[in-house]
Amino acid sequence: MYILPSLWGFGFLPTILPSMNKNVLLFILVIGLAVFSEAAQAKKKPAIIQGYDYIVAPGEIFFLEVKVERAKFIPLRVDLKKQRIHFYKGDFHLGSARSDRDGLARLETVFYAPGIYRVKAELSKDSKYKANTTDNRVLVVDPKVPLLVSDIDHTLADISGREFLRTPDHKIPTLKKAPEVLNRITKDFTVFYMTARDDSFIKRTKNWLDINNFPLGPSFFWDFGFFNQMPSDHGEYKASLLKTLSKKFKNILIGVGDKPHDVAAYRENGLRAYYIGHPGEVLASDVISLKSWIEIEEHLKLNPIGSLRGDPLIK
Ligand SMILES: [Mg+2]
Repeated sequence: MYILPSLWGFGFLPTILPSMNKNVLLFILVIGLAVFSEAAQAKKKPAIIQGYDYIVAPGEIFFLEVKVERAKFIPLRVDLKKQRIHFYKGDFHLGSARSDRDGLARLETVFYAPGIYRVKAELSKDSKYKANTTDNRVLVVDPKVPLLVSDIDHTLADISGREFLRTPDHKIPTLKKAPEVLNRITKDFTVFYMTARDDSFIKRTKNWLDINNFPLGPSFFWDFGFFNQMPSDHGEYKASLLKTLSKKFKNILIGVGDKPHDVAAYRENGLRAYYIGHPGEVLASDVISLKSWIEIEEHLKLNPIGSLRGDPLIK
């Protein structure tokens, strides 16, 4: 729209030209050009930055990674290269990195103190694009700490992945007592989330977990960390991610999910698996099928990890 005033101005030129000398004309042109470029500067093009969550050990060197894209409909959502991204831990500036040809910017970093941190990434102010700031979580945890992993759809949220798309966050109910039980469980287990939701829903999913007071923890999404080589099957994705994590974190002890492939992925990696889905499904061996989070909490109290057949060994 900033072009219009200039055109309007030029339309007047023929009528006033004869009465002006060259210096005045030049002056008008220079001013016009300055106004034009100012307007172009102010009108930054929209972009999207997508960040990811991590679980790392204290003192572990790792890469914070974000993806930068033009904000357009999917087929036109091109990767943005050479964009400088600044990374912050809370308000502390961790450093910056430039995006590569795939739109990926990576910052090598290290966190020493155990805890859960909010990390954000944003575009450099001098970019010709404007974008959101990311809201990511980095869980820094001793590899010996007991961990629990939960699925989200039909496990924490009383909704399917498909219905979730057309339901506003505040209208999506939790499974009964899920936040309360999980918050009590954090006394003994550190919680993280794994979902088959596509990673384009990261922001909504985190918002939903936050507004329902679930324990703050990292979430892993469908194509997290796989980028171009993601497994084609949801169960395979979960198994593969768990396998990677359990190489380092020896005490991922419990997994909760509503799909036979969730609990199969948990069992494949030696976790105690709680199934909270439709009864009557064929489940992997030693999966514990219960109806609610309250039942899971009671079952866990009566049967501590290590007391049942197929339980993981605490290391
Ligand atoms: Mg599910």
